[in-house]
Amino acid sequence: MHVVRLKKGKEKAVLQLHPWVFSGAVESVKGKPENGEIVMLTDNKGDFLAYGFYNDRSRVSVRLLEWNKDAEINEDWWRSRIGKAVRARQELMSSEDTNTYRVIFSEADFLPGLIVDRFADYLSVQILTSGMERNKQVILDTLQALLNPLGIFDRSDASARSHEGLEASSGGILSGQEPPEFVTVKENSVLYDVNISAGQKSGFYCDQRDNRRIVSEHVSGKRVLDCFSYSGGFSLNALKQNAAEVTSVDSSALALETLGRNIEINNFGAAAHRLIQSDVNKQLRNFRESGEQFDIIVLDPPKYAPSRSALNKASRAYKDLNRQAMLLLTEGGLLATFSCSGAIDITTFKQILAWAALDAGKEVQFIYQFSQPGDHPIRSSFPEGEYLKGLLCRVF
Ligand code: SAH
Repeated sequence: MHVVRLKKGKEKAVLQLHPWVFSGAVESVKGKPENGEIVMLTDNKGDFLAYGFYNDRSRVSVRLLEWNKDAEINEDWWRSRIGKAVRARQELMSSEDTNTYRVIFSEADFLPGLIVDRFADYLSVQILTSGMERNKQVILDTLQALLNPLGIFDRSDASARSHEGLEASSGGILSGQEPPEFVTVKENSVLYDVNISAGQKSGFYCDQRDNRRIVSEHVSGKRVLDCFSYSGGFSLNALKQNAAEVTSVDSSALALETLGRNIEINNFGAAAHRLIQSDVNKQLRNFRESGEQFDIIVLDPPKYAPSRSALNKASRAYKDLNRQAMLLLTEGGLLATFSCSGAIDITTFKQILAWAALDAGKEVQFIYQFSQPGDHPIRSSFPEGEYLKGLLCRVF
């Protein structure tokens, strides 16, 4: 096995079980490992630290998998590692009311670069590192054996793969049968049609499952505005819990078309509901001009800060968005506001909201803190895996 030796004093994070070794920490590479090959990592003296996937194209040179020197990373190892994640989900997600969730969450499940989601009888797989690419077959075989899906299809994100020097994957079915154009999944008894065919990859954000339910506990008889609605996660839960009226705003025609389908398949067609295709910032200003107000507003924007360098710009964007929403709330109304930017932690997010409130001339109480659900675990030695946060705010 090839050996990667660290620079002096660079072993601290590895000893704390952090799974990334950055290229700047590497002193030497013995031999010429191929990208994705398993290497042995040692400290500067040559003492064993861990095993991991090597990649000279990525800024993470080694992605660590195993800290036990005696372990052999063979088929049994893969089965055992994948089995751990699968069993944890089977325990966590045993309710009949939900059949869509994350089965494997990359580093958080000790499997860097592998994401697996369940959509009813189908699995989607994202292979994002060269190490996972090399082991694709055993991964697929194990998933098939443990979960017996009708089909496993590829949804690997091209930009994540490019950081590893991997070509964009062709997408499509990897094993079993092709899913129908729409697979109907169930989350807390709400139905969603998910288009998982190779072409459109619209998918579904299962990380908001718990938060959708929590927000819906407050909506009965209320006027709800769901901004960045996508296929209607928050809107459909609000309709189910008897909101007086729900307005969903998204810029994507496809998202709203899917939301329209989802309203039908849940038989919510008779409820008071509006779909508005628009830029949210623009639409919030329109509502202000027309004097419309809401009792509850959900803000679930896409990731504004893809990295730390974008922090200032993103903070301003979050602030402005939240300020606009606060101005549309009735007295004492609720704002459920989210950020899925890993670079913005909950403390920073609270500061942004305090800043937005001041600018809006409002007072805000934080009454609940949202996080990511248990199928998106946060590994204690990998804080980078914590990305989704939100606050339920009462606005006066
Ligand atoms: N709340 C959704 C997930 C939101 S994902 C759920 O529960 O499933 C983010 C959504 O924001 C996407 O649907 C995207 O189309 C939409 N979006 C991104 N930028 C936007 C903008 N400026 N205005 C309106 N929608 C936008």
